[in-house]
Amino acid sequence: MDTRPIRFEFQCLEGAEELKFVHNIPSGLVNPEALAAQRDGRYRSQFLTAIRPILKEHEAACRAASKGFCENCGQPSVGVLQTPMSWLHNAEDPFVAVLVNPVCGKRECESQMRENIEDMIAEATAEIQGQGASRPSAHVGNMSCRICGKTEGIMKCARCKSVAYCGKEHQRADWKVHKTSCVSNDGGGR
Ligand SMILES: [Zn+2]
Ligand SMILES: [Zn+2]
Ligand SMILES: [Zn+2]
Repeated sequence: MDTRPIRFEFQCLEGAEELKFVHNIPSGLVNPEALAAQRDGRYRSQFLTAIRPILKEHEAACRAASKGFCENCGQPSVGVLQTPMSWLHNAEDPFVAVLVNPVCGKRECESQMRENIEDMIAEATAEIQGQGASRPSAHVGNMSCRICGKTEGIMKCARCKSVAYCGKEHQRADWKVHKTSCVSNDGGGR
């Protein structure tokens, strides 16, 4: 099978260096359509099958590099939650980011944690557009915040680039809804 070396960045501790590893994954998973393809359950399961052993391989290192206690309740952690985030559609620099969070094993902590992770992902997908008045009237100007309709200084979702927000607050507020369509941007109409 054709494979391609891809960088995996494990983000274990806020503000600290990521653990970086390079692994070969099937090159069919790495393409500009990867984001749209995630709507396709087959792509998603191929992606997860390819990266699961990689996550497993670095689990111990991730634990060692993380705080030794649950981020939610402060109890000693029993493991880590690894949340992969695919940037394989990024033609110039395809990679996989993995958010690592220590967990204590309690179900309520894990679900709280997953919510926080959603917020983090929402923030990570923000990309500020049309900044600075010096640019000749930015053509992103015809996009407006999905929540409040503002058109100035808006930021687009860096993953799908099909929605815009006035800031991180509103991007976060919309993420629960947007995440489902974020991976299903068909890039058709423009
Ligand atoms: Zn806990
Ligand atoms: Zn807004
Ligand atoms: Zn998006």
